[in-house]
Amino acid sequence: MSTIRQTISDAFKGLSPGTIGLHHGDPSTYSHTLSVKTKNSSVKKKKVIQVPGRFYQHGSKTLYLDAKGVWENTALLLSKADALHIAGEIDRFSLSYHGDVKSNNEWLAMYGYNPTMSITFHDKHGKPVQKPMPGMACHNCGIVLPIQLIEIDHHMPQADGEYLYTVKTLRALGLTIAAGTGAKSTGIGNWGKFVIAVKERPFGTNPQLNLVADRNKWIPNDKGKAFLSLCAFAFSLNPFSIGMMALTSACRNSMLNLVPLCRTCNGNKSDYYKVIK
Ligand SMILES: [Zn+2]
Repeated sequence: MSTIRQTISDAFKGLSPGTIGLHHGDPSTYSHTLSVKTKNSSVKKKKVIQVPGRFYQHGSKTLYLDAKGVWENTALLLSKADALHIAGEIDRFSLSYHGDVKSNNEWLAMYGYNPTMSITFHDKHGKPVQKPMPGMACHNCGIVLPIQLIEIDHHMPQADGEYLYTVKTLRALGLTIAAGTGAKSTGIGNWGKFVIAVKERPFGTNPQLNLVADRNKWIPNDKGKAFLSLCAFAFSLNPFSIGMMALTSACRNSMLNLVPLCRTCNGNKSDYYKVIK
């Protein structure tokens, strides 16, 4: 469990008002080459897609920090109360190990976990027998499997994905220019009490190339920029800090970024970047 809220709270406690560098976080897009199979061809083709860059950029602007929050000139961009609330939400959804999500009741309920299911086995005489076994569906293709066979996938990739999953988390918390439209983003106030529909995509195939279709979903708004800047400032106060990695690590293993998949759908590594919903 991460402690983003504690870090920010400590930073406010020891605060002497001053300026902090703006971490504006606009995505510097770069090209990523990807091998995919198209629908009408069994041949893998190389495609080049533009994906948001991974780094938080330092702008030349400075923001002003005091006991009330983060300011730009006379405009309060982010109040202390809001900052602590956002940090608390990031902590709440974060897991120290992504597999732990399988024992999180809210996450299980949202993905249609069925504790009273039964599965057909064959006995040693070759006869079908039903055995009770909790199960859940693959989010991609919808196949229902015993929970032991369900894999937990980082919707945004673990490698090279810091920007992606961090901004995805910020978006669910209302900190990007364009709001999230997926079930988790729109249902965050009702967390654990709704079911996320499976995609019903073909078994094992899932090329997704429209990652940056809406660029504004990937750009933090003023409040988001203020929050990133505040995090960078707060983490820099701790001599043992690993900087912004504390934030990005929390967002990587966030329940907002974890989906249940079957082996076949999860194993399709050519679809390295998958769309966020
Ligand atoms: Zn599947």
